[in-house]
Amino acid sequence: MPEEFHFRVDRINTKHSKAEIIASLKKYGEQYGVTTFGMVEYNKWSKRIVCSGTIRNYFGSWGKALRAAGFRAKWCKLDPKEMVNAFKQCWREQQSVPSRKQLKDYLSRHNFPFRWRAYLDFFGSLNKLAQLVEAVEAGRSPEAVLYQRIEREKKRRSISLKDRIAVLKRDGYRCVKCGASPKKDSSVTLHVDHIIPDSKGGSSELDNLQTLCFCCNEGKKNRDD
Ligand SMILES: [Zn+2]
Repeated sequence: MPEEFHFRVDRINTKHSKAEIIASLKKYGEQYGVTTFGMVEYNKWSKRIVCSGTIRNYFGSWGKALRAAGFRAKWCKLDPKEMVNAFKQCWREQQSVPSRKQLKDYLSRHNFPFRWRAYLDFFGSLNKLAQLVEAVEAGRSPEAVLYQRIEREKKRRSISLKDRIAVLKRDGYRCVKCGASPKKDSSVTLHVDHIIPDSKGGSSELDNLQTLCFCCNEGKKNRDD
């Protein structure tokens, strides 16, 4: 009796084994003396054995491939202590608060696994981080404040297209204040507005929304009426 056969993918790349790919990644690391590198950099290498996208698919992620070859993943979870230390070292080297360009150069020269943009995400700005560092160094703030990711401002609650249309329809496509209508005057533009502003806790429910023309909306600003 023939054995039951299952169609199962047991190999992805018939050209190169995992061991060969790992050897190639190691070779790249040795040639450039780096502890981590990106997919784009590997792809530009004339001695690559296969494109980095294939490697990523083969290993599940680029980070997994790097780790399999003994490198650290390039875009690992950000380590704020490492980021702050790099910033301070760069600051010392420059003898003044580093500019974006100086920090960028410093990070790439020393192969840090994060870029200067990560600082904006984490600390808001280089300036803010510099002020925190100064306060901590001077003993005015506890060190822990350095490692707290800034809270992003909450996104403005937006009104869905469906709700906008419902409000315009309900208000008869006219400004509820002055009655201006694009039907009568093509220069009129209508806005759907929060009666109690978003900033004062007004909801985006239909009963807190109204149709205003540009002029009435500008005149209103954050007065809640
Ligand atoms: Zn109006």
